[in-house]
Amino acid sequence: MEEKSVQKKSQLAGGDSAAGWQWCGQCERASKGGAGYSCGYDDCEGYIGNIWTWEYVRKQHPHLPEVPEYDVIYSIKGA
Ligand SMILES: [Zn+2]
Repeated sequence: MEEKSVQKKSQLAGGDSAAGWQWCGQCERASKGGAGYSCGYDDCEGYIGNIWTWEYVRKQHPHLPEVPEYDVIYSIKGA
């Protein structure tokens, strides 16, 4: 019950969510639009083996923000 109200609250706040975001292990940046098999940045060669959904990465590294931003390096090394 409590969990439900928290989910609702985070949906209302901002209107954005982690849905559609992916994280690239090659450049350690988050992006949208790579469709899960390539990095969303043209200057990066990250491909399917490097790409993880943001939700998955965040489960392993809870210190990461709920919703990432473009062009920010989210390093998980040593975390
Ligand atoms: Zn990349």
